[in-house]
Amino acid sequence: MDKDTYYSWARRKGISRRDFLKFCTMTAAMLGLDSSSVPKIVKALETKPRVPVIYLNLQECTCCSESFLRSAHPLISDLIFNMISLDYMEVIQAAAGIQAESARLKAMQDYYGKYVLVVEGSATLGDGGIYCTIGGMTANDLLKECADGAAAVIAYGSCATNACIQGAYPNPTEAVPIRRIVKNKPVIDVPGCPPIAEVITGTIVHYITFGEIPELTSQGRPKAFYSKRVHDGCTRRAFFDAGQFVEQFDDEGAKKGWCLYKMGCKGPVAYNACAVIEWNGGVSFPVKSGHPCMACSENNWYDTSTPFYTHLADIPNNAIGRNPDEVGMAALGVAGIGVVAHAAATIVTKTGEKRQKQEK
Ligand code: SF4
Ligand code: SF4
Repeated sequence: MDKDTYYSWARRKGISRRDFLKFCTMTAAMLGLDSSSVPKIVKALETKPRVPVIYLNLQECTCCSESFLRSAHPLISDLIFNMISLDYMEVIQAAAGIQAESARLKAMQDYYGKYVLVVEGSATLGDGGIYCTIGGMTANDLLKECADGAAAVIAYGSCATNACIQGAYPNPTEAVPIRRIVKNKPVIDVPGCPPIAEVITGTIVHYITFGEIPELTSQGRPKAFYSKRVHDGCTRRAFFDAGQFVEQFDDEGAKKGWCLYKMGCKGPVAYNACAVIEWNGGVSFPVKSGHPCMACSENNWYDTSTPFYTHLADIPNNAIGRNPDEVGMAALGVAGIGVVAHAAATIVTKTGEKRQKQEK
């Protein structure tokens, strides 16, 4: 295995020790680790050889690759580039055809049992898998071949984790998530359309530091990033609780940044870190920018989130404890009622929280 470490590589690239330490601290925080983990991450990145990564592109649109290639944080994109040899990534590698396939086979042989396989895109079962072929192989066969020698497999993006748009009804190619094909290796699901770059970086750093995959949710996703709903950390949440909803994209509520629930926001059912980590180095995320969340991280989201601009019929774990339609009508009708609704909603929320505490 390559003896070069991430730190020695970063230093050669002119990255300062201070920036390196900042990156380690930030990654520990993102992973939900306490401060005692920072020295462990520092030591691992200073001393452990880089983990080889083979990156496959199956049935997909490449938005996931775009997401991390365009990561605003220089160390994050550097980290990924440092780990992914251009020889192994079909979208950006210089090699093509037989050369590219030979490079993949050589990497698999050299690092057998040690490499991490990152897969973007779904597999496809229809008509023997002919709807996605690469280098003369079906995506399924390629996936099985690469997964055999992998230490772990990361399904990167909603195509790989839930088959995304191509898996929507009537699913003409019989697109399936990759865990339907890879049965003999741990598969870490990193859903999102696309996922946030920091999530895959954090997952790989965790693997380098602790030699094991991070703690996963019951759905096989890194717990640090997928245990809270977009709704829980949303910048518009106070307006939801107050019953102040945007009714049209150009109304007064929209200008004031009110809640987008009635415009079809699926944040209450979307388990993802968008509202916490945000995009482009923490500048914004879709809901903050004025567009409803589509719950792109959830299974079958193209079937369950459409029509996109129609609101959810029901809100699970609804903290305001009442129908947002009724609260919204009150807020629209009389300004004073909006205040009362806010107070009532807050009371309901607090009572609910108290009850939950008592029940624990
Ligand atoms: S419904 Fe959407 S816009 Fe409203 S608080 Fe929840 S996530 Fe934010
Ligand atoms: S805000 Fe919602 S739709 Fe947008 S990326 Fe996050 S989970 Fe997906």
